[in-house]
Amino acid sequence: MWEATDEDLFGYEEMRRAQGTRSVTAELTGDDLDVEHSLRPTTLDEYCGQERVRDNLRVLISAARDRHETLDHVLFSGPPGLGKTTLANVVANEMGARLKTTSGPAIARTGDLAAILTNLEEGDVLFVDEIHRLNHQVEEVLYPAMEDFVLDIVIGKGPAARSIRLDVPHFTLVGATTRTGLLTGPLRDRFGISYRLDYYTIEELSRIVTRSASILGVQIDAHGAAEIASRSRGTPRLANRLLKRVRDYAQVRAEGSVSWDVAAEALGFFEIDEMGLDWMDKKILLALTKTFRGRPVGLTTVASAVGEDPSTLEDVYEPYLLQQGLIVRTPQGRQATLSAFEHMGVPAPANC
Ligand code: ADP
Repeated sequence: MWEATDEDLFGYEEMRRAQGTRSVTAELTGDDLDVEHSLRPTTLDEYCGQERVRDNLRVLISAARDRHETLDHVLFSGPPGLGKTTLANVVANEMGARLKTTSGPAIARTGDLAAILTNLEEGDVLFVDEIHRLNHQVEEVLYPAMEDFVLDIVIGKGPAARSIRLDVPHFTLVGATTRTGLLTGPLRDRFGISYRLDYYTIEELSRIVTRSASILGVQIDAHGAAEIASRSRGTPRLANRLLKRVRDYAQVRAEGSVSWDVAAEALGFFEIDEMGLDWMDKKILLALTKTFRGRPVGLTTVASAVGEDPSTLEDVYEPYLLQQGLIVRTPQGRQATLSAFEHMGVPAPANC
């Protein structure tokens, strides 16, 4: 068990500065870009886990293909790194369609959306990442395009302004969001198909690690893969990233091959504990257990205590801590659970 000391909060700050980024953030970092493309599955058969989503998509894609129609618009939601972008690629590939990729913040004006839509070809898949960040005017233009494949454009200004209607090719919009709650009702309703992706089981992540290791040419046995999987917070992106860190360690300290003890040693060396928690998670837990003594605390207070942006705290760190039962959200705020006190080695107050 990890023992907390009085210097911990300060120590974490120093470590954070020294490390720059976290190994276990599920968001895409520069570190992932070199291999992200080669590790991405391209077919439903290669895509591990999310059985319900896969089975559903298999039927829907096959039906749409048989009818020579485009697939209905699809929305994927869930925390970062669970495979939403990958599924957009898989959908396009399985439909035999071209994939165009953009994101909510990149479509700043209605003209940007009009340019994207008019450049599509019949049957294309348009992937919009972070679709909850589309602005209101852009969304208004998107509705008729999704529903009737038409674009209503206003030309000119003032009394001389006139509206023209353009046809756009039939396309499938695949939207991805980490925050379904921020999606407007009308936009959500226009997706015929909607899936929430779940965290992966250790067994599924072990399969992903084993597959990635064979693509990267890393020798790994089943126990090594399971150890990496169990510390990957249910997230394939992290599993792949930890595999790369373990590969580096094994290359220098263990002649390249990854067994259980090499994986455990390497992950300990990179300060990722048995639950997959890193220094930032521990800093949050330490604030809740030690600084606030298990009292409920508002999001912004926790965020300022750990020096993190509230929305990053909410999107990136909290979901896993909640899922693991280390914190709870109460109407009064975030609160550490008994498991958090135990995990952090902090004595729990009598009322906890
Ligand atoms: P998101 O878009 O949800 O943030 P990505 O689709 O970019 O996540 O997935 C991150 C990485 O994790 C991908 O490059 C891919 O290699 C891997 N990955 C995600 N889902 C799976 C899966 N089901 N099977 C195998 N690898 C996966």
